[in-house]
Amino acid sequence: MSRYDWMEEEWERLKSVSLARSIRSVDAVIGEEGTWIRVSGKSLLNLSSNNYLGLAHDPRLKAAAVRGIEEWGAGATASRFVLGSHGLYEQLEQRLAEWKGREAALVFANGYQANTGVISALVGRGDAVFSDRLNHASIVDGIVLSRAEHCRYRHNDMEHLEYLLKRHQGARRKLIVTDTVFSMDGDLAPLADLVELKRRYGALLMVDEAHAGGVLGRSGEGLCHELGLSREVDIIMGTFSKAFGSYGAYVCGATSVVRYLTSKARSLIYSTALPPSVLASIHAALTIVQEEGERRKRLRELGSRFRGMLRERGFSVAEGRTPIIPLVLGESGVALQYSRMLEERGIAAVAIRPPTVPAGTARIRFTVMATHTTTELEWAADQLQQIRAELQWEGR
Ligand code: PMP
Repeated sequence: MSRYDWMEEEWERLKSVSLARSIRSVDAVIGEEGTWIRVSGKSLLNLSSNNYLGLAHDPRLKAAAVRGIEEWGAGATASRFVLGSHGLYEQLEQRLAEWKGREAALVFANGYQANTGVISALVGRGDAVFSDRLNHASIVDGIVLSRAEHCRYRHNDMEHLEYLLKRHQGARRKLIVTDTVFSMDGDLAPLADLVELKRRYGALLMVDEAHAGGVLGRSGEGLCHELGLSREVDIIMGTFSKAFGSYGAYVCGATSVVRYLTSKARSLIYSTALPPSVLASIHAALTIVQEEGERRKRLRELGSRFRGMLRERGFSVAEGRTPIIPLVLGESGVALQYSRMLEERGIAAVAIRPPTVPAGTARIRFTVMATHTTTELEWAADQLQQIRAELQWEGR
């Protein structure tokens, strides 16, 4: 008997139901587009990246990061409250507030820390948080950390949300929280209805624009802006790790909200500030996101082209206008098999399994990038069609 037996047993159990996870190492990224990678010595077309605008390997971001290091050093040396807040932070927060049309912004180390820190600062015992069932895990963890009552409403179901708001009318504070673009489905939250409900029931509304930033809105501001609702939302959160091709996150809103969070968000207070290289690359990415609208346009076009290609080949994929295109396959084993066979044919497309998605909805989550070519996407769709034929798996 070893004291680690229980871990071994649990790992064996996870393996037996195709839910064990392992980390694959990427040997190299080939080229500036970021669309091709080398894994285990093999070149693969990357259809699983959140690098939607293809900025992660853009020479301008890389050069900015180098300049950031040269000017400010490799590390921030301490938390932002202990002199780790190098000049790039303040400039970025000003730019963000302006871009978003809000009074103030606050940069966090990453999206996970932003969500856990903000939610646990806003609510506590005696409060209620109303959260979409498909919200990101960092939102769920923020709610658990806050000790507020966790009221999960069915995905985008406003009737269910209203029912829960009525039932918890006596809660001290009420917070509604939702992704604007759902990370595993690529669909959108009904923001206008959420604003209406938050008004009617006196709740605060927080949205996570992680997958909308750089992708939606005239200058990539996100869904709130696109719908003209950014001032109606109390806390807008977003990340720099996806379309921005960098790392980090932010929240923006009224000065009172941001000031409060600065003093209360523990994930901000008790963690080291971001390295200057990261801040510098975010600055470069923000300029590109604001100025190169054609990347967004191309991304949108490629997304609808790839959806069309899959449909033409008889696959069932939902309509949408985000780069996230899920092919729901059901059982984890099936999704893993598709993923393996795609890789054999030169395509990296990762299987997403429970608990990341609900049981029975394991999928391949395809993501397109502005730097893909239509030829590459057409080729990938052909491979998928051949795999289905090989598996003789009917009905999808
Ligand atoms: N929110 C959403 C909707 C996300 O998809 C993610 C990342 N997968 C996060 C938050 C966490 O962001 P980060 O990766 O910067 O920690």
